[in-house]
Amino acid sequence: NKYVYDFAEGNKDLKDLLGGKGANLAEMTNLGLPVPPGFTITTEACKAYLDTGAEPAGLADQIAAHLAALEEAMGRRLGDSDDPLLVSVRSGAKFSMPGMMETVLNVGLNDRSVVGLSAQAHGNDRFAWDSYRRLIQMFGKTVCEVPGEEFEHALDEVKRAKGSTDDLDLNADDLRGLVDAYKKIFSKHTGREFPQDPREQLDLAVRAVFESWNAERAVIYRRQERIPADLGTAVNVVAMVFGNLGPDSGTGVAFTRDPASGDQGIYGDYLANAQGEDVVAGIRNTVPLQELERIDKSSYDELLDYMARLERHYRDLCDIEFTIERGKLWMLQTRVGKRTAAAAFVIAGQLVDEGLIDLDEALHRVNGAQLAQLMFPRFQLDHGFEAVATGIGASPGAAVGKVVFTSARAVELAGQGEDVILVRRETNPDDLNGMIAARGILTSRGGKTSHAAVVARGMGKTCVSGADELDIAVPQRRFTVAGQTIVEGDVVSIDGTTGKVYLGQVPVMPSEVVRYFEGELDPETIDDALVRAVHRIMTHADGRRRLAVRTNADTGADAARARRFGAQGIGLCRTEHMFLGDRRELVERLILARDPAERENALAALLPLQRADFMEIFREMDGQPVTVRLIDPPLHEFLPPLEQLAVDVAVAQERGEDVAKEEALLAAVRRMHEENPMLGLRGVRLGLVIPGLFAMQVRAITEAAVECARQGVRSYPEIMVPLVGAVQELETVRAEAEKIIAEVAGGSEVEVLIGTMIEVPRAALTAGQIAEAAEFFSFGTNDLTQMGWGFSRDDVEGAFFWRYLELGIFGISPFESIDADGIGRLVRIAAEEGRAARPGLKLGVCGEHGGDPDSVHFFHAVGLDYVSCSPFRVPVARLEAGRASV
Ligand code: PEP
Ligand code: MG
Repeated sequence: NKYVYDFAEGNKDLKDLLGGKGANLAEMTNLGLPVPPGFTITTEACKAYLDTGAEPAGLADQIAAHLAALEEAMGRRLGDSDDPLLVSVRSGAKFSMPGMMETVLNVGLNDRSVVGLSAQAHGNDRFAWDSYRRLIQMFGKTVCEVPGEEFEHALDEVKRAKGSTDDLDLNADDLRGLVDAYKKIFSKHTGREFPQDPREQLDLAVRAVFESWNAERAVIYRRQERIPADLGTAVNVVAMVFGNLGPDSGTGVAFTRDPASGDQGIYGDYLANAQGEDVVAGIRNTVPLQELERIDKSSYDELLDYMARLERHYRDLCDIEFTIERGKLWMLQTRVGKRTAAAAFVIAGQLVDEGLIDLDEALHRVNGAQLAQLMFPRFQLDHGFEAVATGIGASPGAAVGKVVFTSARAVELAGQGEDVILVRRETNPDDLNGMIAARGILTSRGGKTSHAAVVARGMGKTCVSGADELDIAVPQRRFTVAGQTIVEGDVVSIDGTTGKVYLGQVPVMPSEVVRYFEGELDPETIDDALVRAVHRIMTHADGRRRLAVRTNADTGADAARARRFGAQGIGLCRTEHMFLGDRRELVERLILARDPAERENALAALLPLQRADFMEIFREMDGQPVTVRLIDPPLHEFLPPLEQLAVDVAVAQERGEDVAKEEALLAAVRRMHEENPMLGLRGVRLGLVIPGLFAMQVRAITEAAVECARQGVRSYPEIMVPLVGAVQELETVRAEAEKIIAEVAGGSEVEVLIGTMIEVPRAALTAGQIAEAAEFFSFGTNDLTQMGWGFSRDDVEGAFFWRYLELGIFGISPFESIDADGIGRLVRIAAEEGRAARPGLKLGVCGEHGGDPDSVHFFHAVGLDYVSCSPFRVPVARLEAGRASV
């Protein structure tokens, strides 16, 4: 097995094997860009190590051979006492996991080669000893689990002795002393001396990178980002170049476009006389990349040239890490850069304009989750709110919440249902849980590429970073800004687009994208790159998609909004929602009716109300189909809770009051009580048990359609029977409904279809029979998931899903995204067998999955005709249906 690839052997398409970083280093090498020589140990080697606990056979020899070649190329040997080669050992998985895994720099330094390094650096002893102490620190912490604070304390100690707070004030002697102190810390914790054999250093570092794949924070991050747990990481061994050799050296990051807005220009941060990790950690304040032009014009021009080449080559926004070693530019990393949702749309539009991609490709470059983010509300600032600080808009959105200062407190308060803003000087991977729990993240240090910024963008969480007017005291749980002191629990509002921080609760307003969907902004005339890009891509998605998109709506207002958002009909009108509020009493009367006359009276009172409901909706959806589902919920939902009622009646009896009516109610509630209401008297069962109920609804629907037609409104009602498991149930309802429709609509042009939900597994498995009696199917994937898995949809999420997610039994709740293998198989069978029995059978889905991006792709693949989802998900479903088609 080939476990090691030289950079010249790989390319950007080998991310599975070489990880993202390794594949892109190879690509840049082959493009002729100045990449320090090196090699990549594959993810296969990592997986083998993680499976067996030992390096796979042959790996050690392959590393030796590539190391020899690297030494040859550099003309230096690892650990050499005169002219040593140093390498970095860097993780790099297929998907970027910023800061989650390990890196060790300066491997190859020991008591002898530190002298050679000093000679290489023209006698710069200070640099050599600083490099050595960094190695012991990083190696100790990441490879041998020595507590990092011990090294920090030792460093602080030396600085204090010097009366300084800046590392740069320490001289070579100070740092040599620090190396001794570090070695003592190392041996105290590990029970051994710091390894002097460079090959041993390398092997242990590689092993530590392998193991960091399963570090807790990496596991949490993968779960969040839905990155599969079994990919493993590659390891890149790269010849060291140094950005900390003096003022003519430095390190930085660059983006080929603004990753927040998508604007073209020069975006990045530069830090002179520093090593790469200093920038990413946000420890020292960087300068804008433009300043490099003044500092080192020739490196700057060269960098801009490479940036343009990379962007053309990748046909996308790239981000870049680079180092300048004494005026020589080195490219250390590139990748197609992460970006905000807004930037994704804007850049996709720009690249189409530039002729680099076509509109189909532009559709692939954006997704429904991003569109959903852009539909978030934003701050309304005309209430006299003044920002107290301005940081960097690191990840957009408008977040309001109570200030907390630690990850643990964020988790705790969020668990109590509070909205919190996590405030930190800077974040590190240990803050991950708090970042997940918080509404937003606010830091006083670090740029657009700091840990907080990168991770928040990845999570789609609002973040303002580098708000350096904030003076944060974490132990005291407070910060001061603009002369005011803010303590834990005070409310702040942060705007991740502008970077502004406000005290108190700023009101929020709808986003521009929502206003566009609402028809308030004209994309043809507006000067807003985002709205124009969204319009263009949505238009293309609509032109491409095969799936129609309907909405779930039970009021005229919802129907109207969904229609503005692009819905092409109603896929589910839940009529039980029309029986709540002051109509509940009418339903109670119906249930408690002692004889047919009482029942008839109750139904007669409901009929006109229902008719008016349907007319309102038909009017809003003029010309489009409306699927009306006959009443579904368990009847007891309309009655008072049994225990409370029993107590009330007993108390009233005790007082000697007349309780005849209450007793009757109690008896009815007792009679109807079910241990498992979700599997009880609901849906079609109810229609078969309570005479006249479905008939009343069918009559109301048909009368509404006839009346609408008379008024010139074109309605296309589709009556849907819920919870059918056997064709006989449907046939019974259908026979009665057809009579009423003929009676009411006979002679008019109104046509009413009758179909069924497929939401009971038995219905899916007997779909061929059921299709004989149904003009359409609509998959109720909520109940299909509930009954297919045997998971109570109302209970499981809190009860045990966390454990299932933790164990990876599924990566996402099957109520959120369709379980394609199991529940999806039921959908597939029903679709195939239903259509075989009745060619042209109309198929849709109306469970929550209809608005979930991955599920939309599945329903497209299965060949459904439409998905139906809540009004706000309609644009998301349109976009994803388009993406599924190209
Ligand atoms: C379903 O079960 O998927 C469905 C749409 O019906 P409800 O959610 O109302 O049970
Ligand atoms: Mg259902």
